[in-house]
Amino acid sequence: MEQDKAKKKLYHQLLKITLLPIFLLTAVIITISIRSYANAMNNEVRQGLMNQSFTIITMYDKLYPGDYKAFEGDDGLYLLKGDHLINGDFSIIDTLKENTGVDITVFYQDVRVITTVCGEDGERIIGTKVSAVVVKDVLEGGRAAFYPNVSIGDKDYFAYYSPLLNEDGACIGMLFVAKPVETVMNDLFRVILPIVFLGILAVMIAALLTIRYSCRLTEAIGEIEKFLGKVANGELNEQLAYPVGKRKDEVGELGRHAVDMQRSLRELVEKDALTGLYNRRYGEKRLKQVQKDADSYGMPFCIAIGDIDYFKHVNDTYGHEWGDRVLTQIARIMAERMRREGYAARWGGEEFLLVFIDQGLQDAAETLRKLQNEIRDTEFTYNEKEKIRVTMTFGICESSGGNTDELLRCADHRLYAGKKGGRDRIIQE
Ligand code: GH3
Ligand code: MG
Ligand code: MG
Repeated sequence: MEQDKAKKKLYHQLLKITLLPIFLLTAVIITISIRSYANAMNNEVRQGLMNQSFTIITMYDKLYPGDYKAFEGDDGLYLLKGDHLINGDFSIIDTLKENTGVDITVFYQDVRVITTVCGEDGERIIGTKVSAVVVKDVLEGGRAAFYPNVSIGDKDYFAYYSPLLNEDGACIGMLFVAKPVETVMNDLFRVILPIVFLGILAVMIAALLTIRYSCRLTEAIGEIEKFLGKVANGELNEQLAYPVGKRKDEVGELGRHAVDMQRSLRELVEKDALTGLYNRRYGEKRLKQVQKDADSYGMPFCIAIGDIDYFKHVNDTYGHEWGDRVLTQIARIMAERMRREGYAARWGGEEFLLVFIDQGLQDAAETLRKLQNEIRDTEFTYNEKEKIRVTMTFGICESSGGNTDELLRCADHRLYAGKKGGRDRIIQE
């Protein structure tokens, strides 16, 4: 439970340190992009309206030279440019609106004289007045001004107001050139939406990859942790989950080290350091398992205990080191012979246990005889001149089921009888 919590914590920590920056960074990038683009758009709209305003004023000047004049007629106010009556002449502003999409209004002072802007009733809003702010900035200030949010009727505009100046510099009115906010926003969204969509898609892919990677990583670490936990509990035959060892990164390396450590521990615990055979403890443990299996499946098996004859003499004559070499060589012969029969273990100093699995006494004794002959025929060269030869005596017994200690005692008794009877023999009854 505790470990489970720790595992989850690692997984969550990994996600936190990877996903959080990705999300934050993306949010910041998208916000900055939108703002920059919106600013650029604003400037572009402003510049565009300013140019159009300049063009219209120049066009009026070219088409109708002379000053703007206004006078009150019978049916209201009249505005003239040179000799041309501006009132009622919508041809220029309507054509421009059609071509460029901008709305245009000509003011006399703060009153709309001609306009392309219509009210909610669909009629042009001629005769209406501009706001006080514009009067102050443009009419009284004599300077052009840009407003990013001008409400006229139910519509919002990016609007550019330019003063209409006569030769003497007197401000007679204004020219209004504007683009509906809705149109600008639609253009903006058309550009920004794909950017936002692509950004979100990239983040989703990055997030999915991160989650997958974190999941696999923590799973692999979890498997190693589980494996090491079992090894720590003495379960030295536990297998590490397959994909962990296949990983090519440090986690895979960690898994491989853990498996190597388990193998080394198993060798230390199960094997005899000098000969490499199973040690007595493991030999006995395995024997109990063999006994259990044989009893369950009704399978015969035999054991033999063998002891090197007059081994003290080998040590005394050639030295302990040569004694060790002889022991190791004999162990190698035994391991090789017993590979297909069962197993061999070092039972004591120069004593060995041999277990013949799934074999009756006659078969096992036959195999043992071959082994005994091979050992007898082996020459151990000492100092390139003298040859060392040894013989072995064995006691062999077949299991009659149940008690391993009794079986071991039987083999031991027969070995003793073999020694007493003259050595270099196999006692099987
Ligand atoms: P027997 O035929 O009655 O078995 O005679 P033996 O000399 O083999 O028996 P004994 O019990 O008198 O001596 C056993 C010797 O084996 C004594 C001991 O020094 C030697 N021995 C035991 N373990 C080792 C070992 O690991 N290395 C070496 N070199 N000698 C060992
Ligand atoms: Mg001996
Ligand atoms: Mg002995």
